[in-house]
This record gives sequence, structure tokens and C-alpha cells, in this order.
Amino acid sequence: MVSLPLMAEVAVPPATAEEALIKRVTILGATGSIGTSTLAVMADNPSAYEVEAVTAFGNAERLAQVAKKVKARVAVIADRSAYDALASALAGSGIEAAAGPAAIEEAASRPVDIVVAGIVGAAGLAPTMAAIRAGARIALANKECLVCAGDLFMGEARKAGITILPVDSEHNAIFQALEGRNLDDVEKIILTASGGPFRDWTKEAMAAARPEEALKHPNWSMGPKISIDSATLMNKGLEVIEAHHLFGIDSARLDVIVHPQSVVHGMVAYRDGSTIAQMSAPDMRTPIAHCLAWPRRARDAGTRLDLARVGRLTFERPDLDRFPALRVARAALDTGVWATNILNAANEVAVAAYLQGAVRFLDIAKVGEEAIERAAIQGLGRPPGTIKEALALDREGRRIATALVAGRKAP
Ligand code: NAD
Ligand code: MG
Repeated sequence: MVSLPLMAEVAVPPATAEEALIKRVTILGATGSIGTSTLAVMADNPSAYEVEAVTAFGNAERLAQVAKKVKARVAVIADRSAYDALASALAGSGIEAAAGPAAIEEAASRPVDIVVAGIVGAAGLAPTMAAIRAGARIALANKECLVCAGDLFMGEARKAGITILPVDSEHNAIFQALEGRNLDDVEKIILTASGGPFRDWTKEAMAAARPEEALKHPNWSMGPKISIDSATLMNKGLEVIEAHHLFGIDSARLDVIVHPQSVVHGMVAYRDGSTIAQMSAPDMRTPIAHCLAWPRRARDAGTRLDLARVGRLTFERPDLDRFPALRVARAALDTGVWATNILNAANEVAVAAYLQGAVRFLDIAKVGEEAIERAAIQGLGRPPGTIKEALALDREGRRIATALVAGRKAP
């Protein structure tokens, strides 16, 4: 029998005195979209939570506001030059201020019950690993951790005996559809994709797509990087890689289907022909509430699903010609962790360049694909053995992608 990795605690116990206790929470990326949704979930049950640490990249004012609102013990800003602004905004509040990546790791390792990993990109890897080593349960939104160093990440989680709860709506759905079942009985795991803002666009129109058009997601309101990833479908590619590591399932049993209404978030097809799906309104508060309360269920004010109002649920196959990012990501998964690491780094660089108007929309997937080819030629095609090596590979990927971006004609 193959048991599901990191799902040892699947039997839902009755409410215990321990669960009636307040949960201590740290939020990494507290000023972002996931951070803000987490704060909204916690605000629905304010007596259930206490906040240890909140962190952000550079917006000291917003971070101080958040820290005061949730009465955090410490607020940490990654950008050291924002320290003075943070310290003065927190003066007299009794909340500790700190700055720099090492301080974020320190904050992430403080003892808590659950750490919400809501940083965007590979920047979240070191702090989330620090949280795992400290033994906290992780509510993982930061999928790039798994794309960048999935084997090491899950290996550490196993070693520490902690549970990784997926916040990403598709993985949260699949987690729920898998809970208590045997992976041997699974024929296929299916992730749904909305198709993004360009689902109906021609390739010619996509080639000229402007950032403000790509940022306009039909169903979800999210941070800029994941919004662009959703328009290229790279997000779905990264999610296939995420699912492979989270659930320990081979890529051949991972499928993607386009479902424009974003009501069914993920499905598990069992070998007897049954398919179990999870449905909810497209509102990140629902998976976040699931993670914070797991293994129980808490009342949450997230949007309710009204199927009669939705009316129709439709499904179609993804078009890999118009959305090559999905093909590139799947090929990287089949090549190995070094390739997904390089792809992730190159994608971050290419998305930032696209948002700045330096490359075209369809260049994003090309930069990712070419970065992997160049990395292979440079002899980088070996699996990273440590987090330090994974981060070094990530830096190489960024260097290669920056050169590729510079070599492309600006639109
Ligand atoms: P966002 O850009 O809105 O927020 C990112 C947060 O990380 C901010 O608090 C920012 O200050 C912080 N941050 C950015 N760079 C940092 C750095 N170098 N060091 C430290 N902190 C840094 O992003 P988001 O949309 O909230 O996404 C966060 C993660 O969750 C991403 O990995 C994304 O793929 C994943 N996710 C998001 C959603 C969503 O609905 N937004 C859904 C599923 C998964
Ligand atoms: Mg998702």
C-alpha cells in the first residue's frame, strides 16, 4: 500500500481541548493577495488566532498597519532600506521591527502552530524551509518553493514530520478529494484551469497583448506575477509540478482541463471509474479557511457557491499551441528538478520584463524553454543536493534569462 505523503493525520478527531486553544500563526507575505485573504479569514474568528510574525518585501507603512491590526509580536521587512520607516511606524506599539532576509528566516522559525507561506517566487524558499525545520504546520501558497526545490522541500517536511496543507485552490481541492484514500487506487489527478483572460484570443492577438490586458483575470483577483502566469498558463504548468511533489504522484497521472467558471477546482479519478471533485466559489478565503482549521472545519464568511446562479459548468482541453508554457513546464518536470528550478527562475525574470514592457507576451514561455536549453549546455543539469545549491541554480537561471531577455527586441 502506498500511503499519501504527509497526510498521516487524516482521521478527523472530535474537537479536543487542545483544538479549542488559540492557534498561533505567522504570515509570510502578509501584505500580498494571499496575506490579505488570510487576514480576512482570521478576522472572521478573531478569538481563534494569535499572530506571531508578519513579513513583507518593501511596503513598511502597509506592513505596520497589518501588524498593528493583528497585534503581531514582530514585523519584518525584507528591504533593509525600509527599516527606519517600519520602526517609526511601529514606535510605541510594542511590536518589534526587523529587516533583511535573515530576519525573515528568524521570524519564520519562531514557534507557532501554522505558518502561512504567502511570499511570491523563489524568495519564499529559505523562509518556508526555516518554518519547516522549526516544526510548524505549513499552509503553502508559495508554489515556487516546490518548483524550485520540490524533492528537498518535501524531504525536509517528511523529516520534520509536519503536514503541508495546500492553499493553492486546485491542490487544496485535490487534498480534500484524496484525504483518507490510497494513492494506489488513483488513476488520475485533474487540475482545472480557468483559461485566463486570453482563453478565446487568437495567437496573433496574444502576441500583441498588453500587460494591463494580461493582468485582467476573469475569475480571481491575485498578485501581478501569478496573474501573468495565469494568462500564459505557466501557472498551471507550475501547479502540475507542485502537485507532483505534494502528492507524490507521477506526471503521467496528472492532467489539466480548462474550466472557465472556476467552480470545480480539482478532481481525483479513481480506478473504479469514480471521480471525486471539490467545488467552491472562486474565493481564496475558502482554501485558506480549510488550511487554518484543518483537520476540522471552521465557519468562514467566504463567498458561497450558488450553482443555480452559475448555471453551466463547462470543460475543454487546453490548447498547447496558444499556451506553450504548459508544454514547457511539463517537459521540465519530466527532465528533472534542475530544469523546473531554471524554468521558475527564468519565468520570474520574463514576467517582470513583460510587465516592464521589455518583452512580448509570447516571449515568456520561450525565455523559459531557452533558459533550460542553455543551462543544460552550461552543465547545470544536475539535481541540487541542498537548498544552498537550489538557490545557486536559481541565481544562474536568472542570469541566463536576463541575458535572453536583453537579446530579444523590445516590443
Ligand atoms: P503578491 O504579490 O500579492 O504578494 C506577495 C507577498 O510576498 C507580499 O507580501 C510581498 O511583500 C512579499 N514578497 C515579495 N517579494 C519578496 C521578497 N523578495 N522577500 C520577502 N517577501 C517578499 O502575491 P500573491 O498573489 O499573494 O501570491 C503569493 C503566492 O501565492 C505566490 O506563490 C502565488 O503563486 C501563490 N498563490 C496565490 C494565489 C492568489 O489568489 N493570489 C492563489 C494561489 C496561489
Ligand atoms: Mg491555483
